[in-house]
Amino acid sequence: MTPPADPGLTDLDFDTYLRRVAAFTDEELIPGEAEMAAAGEVPERLVRRMAGLGLFGVSIPRAYGGLGWSMTQQVLLTLEFTRASCVYRSRFSTVIGLCSQAVLDHGTEAQRREMLPEMAAGRRVTSFALTEPEAGSDATNVRTVARRSGDGWVLDGEKRYITNAHWADTLLVFARTDEGNAREISAFLVERTAPGVTTRLPEQMNGHAEGPVAEIGLDAVTVPGDRLLGGVPGTGLKAAMRGINHARLHVAATCVGQATRMLEEATRHVTRRRQFDAPLADLGVVQAELGRCYAEMEAGRALTLDAARAFDAGEVPRQRISAAKLYCSEMAGRVADRCVQLLGGEGIVGPHPVPRMWRDVRTLRIYEGSSAIHERNLGRAMIRSVSAEGVLPDSYRVR
Ligand SMILES: Cc1cc2nc3c(=O)[nH]c(=O)nc-3n(C[C@H](O)[C@H](O)[C@H](O)COP(=O)(O)OP(=O)(O)OC[C@H]3O[C@@H](n4cnc5c(N)ncnc54)[C@H](O)[C@@H]3O)c2cc1C
Repeated sequence: MTPPADPGLTDLDFDTYLRRVAAFTDEELIPGEAEMAAAGEVPERLVRRMAGLGLFGVSIPRAYGGLGWSMTQQVLLTLEFTRASCVYRSRFSTVIGLCSQAVLDHGTEAQRREMLPEMAAGRRVTSFALTEPEAGSDATNVRTVARRSGDGWVLDGEKRYITNAHWADTLLVFARTDEGNAREISAFLVERTAPGVTTRLPEQMNGHAEGPVAEIGLDAVTVPGDRLLGGVPGTGLKAAMRGINHARLHVAATCVGQATRMLEEATRHVTRRRQFDAPLADLGVVQAELGRCYAEMEAGRALTLDAARAFDAGEVPRQRISAAKLYCSEMAGRVADRCVQLLGGEGIVGPHPVPRMWRDVRTLRIYEGSSAIHERNLGRAMIRSVSAEGVLPDSYRVR
C-alpha cells in the first residue's frame, strides 16, 4: 500500500515544488536508474517516493485531493522528472494524464469523489485500456463488447499494450455498447481483480523494458451499473480523447526532458573522451552536432510550453498539441541517434544511460498516436479549417 502524499505539499508554492521535484530527480531518480535496470522493474521504494511527493496527483484538482497544477506547470514538472528514465513517468502517467482527466471531465460526481483522491495519493493506480489487436491506430474499431445485464453490464474482449495494467487497481476499459447507434463506445471502471479479468506481461519489451505493458483478457466480467463512466453509454470516445489530449502534451514534454538529459550526457562524454591527442569536443563537427540538437530541443520545449499555455487559456488546442507531440517525439529520436553516435562504442556496449534512453524514446513515436497518424490528422484539420474558415486550425492570426 502506497502512503498518501505528504499533506504539507499543498502549502508549497509552485516554484518550491518544482525545485523539490528537480532535486528528487537528481538525488534519487537518476541514481536509481542502474538499480532499476538491474532489477528489470521500477523499485517499489521509488514508486512510494514518487507517490509521497504527490506526482500521482499533479493534474488532479485540489478539491479532489491532488495538487491541481496548471498544464503549463505540469509541463515544467515533466521537463524536470523526465531528465531521469522515462520509465519512472510511466508508473504514474496513466493516472495523471489518461485516466484522471477522463474521470474528471466525463465521470459522475460520485465517481470523481470516489476515484480521484485515491488516484492522487497513488493508492489507486489506473490503466487506460483502449488498444486491442484489431484497434490500434484505428481506435474506433474496438471489438470488446459490453452487454446490459440487469442493472449492470457484462464485458467480453481483449486489450493489448496497456501500460500499468498488470499492477493497476482499476482499468478504464473502452467497449462497444451499440445501443443508440452502431459503433457506440462506452468507458467502464473495472477492478483488475474482478472475476473474469486476467492480465499477462509480454515475453519481451524492446525499450521501456522496466515498465512493461500488458494484455488484458475480459471473460464475462460483470460490471455494476454505477461503473459506467458518466452513467451514460456512448460517451467513451469523448472521454478517451480528453485523456489522450492531456497525455499527448505530457509525452511532448517527456521527449524534451529525455533530450535534455541525453545532450548533457553526450556533452560530458565529448569533453572527456580524447582522440588524436585532443578532446572530441574540440572538433568543429562535434560542436555542430551538439548545436543542431540543442536548437531542436529548444524548439520542442517552446512548442510544448506554447501549447500548454493555450490549453490553460481555454479550449483544448488539439492541433497544437498534436504538432508538439509529433515534433518532439521525432526530435527525441534524432537527438538520441546522434548522441549514441557521439558515444561511439560506448553507445552500444556497456551500461551508459544514453543507449537505454535511445531504446526508450523510440516508443514515444508510437503511442499517444504514431507520427504518421499525427501528420495525417494535422493535414486533414488544415484542409477542413482553411476550407471552412480560410485560416489554419488553432490559428494565431488576429481576426
Ligand atoms: C510502450 C507502449 C505503451 C502503450 N500504452 C498504451 C496504453 O496505456 N493504453 C492503450 O490503450 N494503448 C497503449 N499503447 C498502444 C498504442 O496506442 C498503439 O501501439 C498505437 O496506437 C499504434 O497501434 P498499433 O501498435 O496497433 O499499430 P498499427 O495501428 O498497426 O500501426 C502500425 C504502423 O502503421 C501506421 N499506420 C496505421 N494507420 C495508418 C494510416 N491511416 N496512415 C498512415 N500510417 C498508418 C502507423 O503509423 C504505424 O507506424 C501502448 C503502446 C506502446 C508501444
